[in-house]
Amino acid sequence: MDLTTYAELAVLLVNGADRLEGIAGLRLLLGESGRGARAARATRADLEAMRALRAELLAVFESADAGDEDDAVARLNALLIRHPVHPQISGHDGQRWHLHLNEDGGIADQYAVGCVMGLAALVTDLGVDRLGLCDAAPCRRAFLDTSSNRSRRYCSERCASRANVAAYRARKRRVAV
Ligand SMILES: [Zn+2]
Ligand SMILES: [Zn+2]
Repeated sequence: MDLTTYAELAVLLVNGADRLEGIAGLRLLLGESGRGARAARATRADLEAMRALRAELLAVFESADAGDEDDAVARLNALLIRHPVHPQISGHDGQRWHLHLNEDGGIADQYAVGCVMGLAALVTDLGVDRLGLCDAAPCRRAFLDTSSNRSRRYCSERCASRANVAAYRARKRRVAV
């Protein structure tokens, strides 16, 4: 199991503020994250817990993006303590035996464990500077930089080309003056 893939859960949640406006949105987000099975049981308390988790994960990305690696790691360590892993071997749906990180706990707890283990694996494998926030103002969506030369600055192709167009126009303005 490649734990770093779980870090995508953190990105999905940090960028999913609009999904956390109500239970319907939360169910959508859980479906998108491959956790749709439990979505029907999502409650208002789960929604509150997911909002709180989102704020904590955003703070990790903000610290990493600002180059404050110690703070990002301290925040991740605090999350690791609050959301301990209870691994279980599972073989549902005819799949071969594989690890699930958490079977117990509420929706947000399970989600948190996936995010936090994923981020912990990613920053120890690749580095804290692999967590970023989009440079194309005012976007600031989170992303994981898995490029070979740590060159990623934008959340998406769309933001990258928007930023390129803006930079081109700025250059042209300077030339015109
Ligand atoms: Zn499974
Ligand atoms: Zn962006």
